[in-house]
This record gives sequence, structure tokens and C-alpha cells, in this order.
Amino acid sequence: MSVLEIRDLHVTVETDQGETPILNGIDLTINTGETHAIMGPNGSGKSTLAYTIAGHPKYTVTSGTITFDGEDVLEMSVDERARAGLFLAMQYPVEIPGVTVTNFLRTAKTAIDGEAPSIRQWTKDVKGAMSNLRMDPKFAQRNVNEGFSGGEKKRHEIMQLEVLKPKFAVLDETDSGLDVDALKIVSEGVNRAKEATNLGVLLITHYTRILRYIRPDFVHVIVAGKIVEEGGAELADRLEDEGYDRFIDPAAPIE
Ligand code: ADP
Ligand code: MG
Ligand code: MG
Repeated sequence: MSVLEIRDLHVTVETDQGETPILNGIDLTINTGETHAIMGPNGSGKSTLAYTIAGHPKYTVTSGTITFDGEDVLEMSVDERARAGLFLAMQYPVEIPGVTVTNFLRTAKTAIDGEAPSIRQWTKDVKGAMSNLRMDPKFAQRNVNEGFSGGEKKRHEIMQLEVLKPKFAVLDETDSGLDVDALKIVSEGVNRAKEATNLGVLLITHYTRILRYIRPDFVHVIVAGKIVEEGGAELADRLEDEGYDRFIDPAAPIE
């Protein structure tokens, strides 16, 4: 078993107004095999948490720690984080002109494993992942994210999960812009990775919809950079009915 631990994490971001505090003391413990949903209203700091775990240079950790099996993640480069087994799918994936999906994935796999996968195994893994996700085999020869539709971007993320086999995945708004069919296929992919490799998942979402397909073991609600409520899957069901109003304005009546 592996564990990702976040302790009293404070993060600022540089804006026109200088360094602005966004996360104000986040505590989270995620074991492999567990799915944690991070929910909250827009602007509450969910993506900031994902970017900070990913090591995005715009975000400054002013205090607190992130450790992976006791190792200091904040000391690791972005590549080292990937090699340690962290997978971070971003809300707005970047285009990589001239690099095909299959070469991108093979390079990533080689970097993570420290050696290139055999061509035979690799071809089999990529074909299998694409067929699982019901993707056209031609997709492997397209350039990463170039002209990808919303659904193709999400499938590409989940394809990475299937072939890179990380220990933990941070999925930021994986559900945004997906129709129900695509949402099901993407969710099945995450659930397969959970089954196959005991993946730990940090599932960041504003909406409860994806949690019907990927059931969380734990739900954490973030408002204004702090966790304001925690519970099991039933908390997500309650949020679906009640929304976030009562967390934002404590005086708001619960309907
Ligand atoms: P969420 O993902 O919950 O919608 P974010 O983490 O994206 O929230 O944003 C939290 C707050 O931090 C917002 O007020 C947002 O404007 C600000 N913020 C986040 N990233 C940046 C950035 N790179 N530059 C300026 N402001 C940012
Ligand atoms: Mg947002
Ligand atoms: Mg966000």
C-alpha cells in the first residue's frame, strides 16, 4: 500500500495584487485503493490543489507538507513526481505539436519505468486501452491534443491512466463537457484502473454527476481554500440536493 499525505497545506498564487493566499490549511490522507472526491464551488481552490500536487511553478507552498510514502513531494521535480507514481490530468491539457499520442505515451512510460517497454507489449497495451475506451485506432497517430474534442481529451487522459499504471491519479474536472455516454466510458476506465492496479484517486469535481459512476469512499468539501465538511458517498448525494449555499452562507436555509 502507498499513501499520499497532505498536511496543513497553505498555497499562494501570484496575481496583479501580489501573492494571494488560495489554500488555507488543507489536510488529506489518501491510500492506494481509495477514491476521494474533492468538491466545492467555483473558485474555492480545487484546481490549485491539483496544480500544487503536480508541481506547477505558479503556485507557492508557504507552509505545510505533501509526502508520498514519507518522501517529500514538494522537493521532487515534476518528472520525479511522475516516476514516483503520481498521475495528474489537468483541466486544460496542453497541445504538443508534432508529437503523436502513441509516441507521447511511450516516452512517458519510458521515463516513468526507467526503461522502454518492449514494442510487442506496448502495442498490445495501447490497442487494449483504446479498445476499452472505444476509440478509433487512428487516434494513436494524431498529435497530442491537436484539435481534440472535449471527449477525446478526456479519453486520452484515461488512456494514459490505463497504460502508465500510476499509484495515484489526480483527475481535475474529468467530467466537464462530457455527454452521458462519454462520461460512462471514461468512468469505466477509471474504475478499471482502480480494480487492476489498486489506484488511489483524487477526483476533483464541481458537480455530483460523475460520482454516480465512480463512487467515492470519502467526500471533502472545499470552500475558500479550506475543507469545511467531510463524509462518505452520502455527502455527495446531499450536495446534489442542497448545493453549496449553506457552506458559503451559513445563514442560508437548507431546503
Ligand atoms: P476551483 O478549481 O475550485 O474553481 P481555482 O483553484 O481554480 O478554483 O481558483 C481558486 C482561486 O484562485 C480563484 O479565485 C482564482 O481566481 C485564483 N487563481 C487560481 N489560479 C490562479 C492563477 N494562476 N492566477 C491568478 N489567480 C488564480
Ligand atoms: Mg474553476
Ligand atoms: Mg478548477
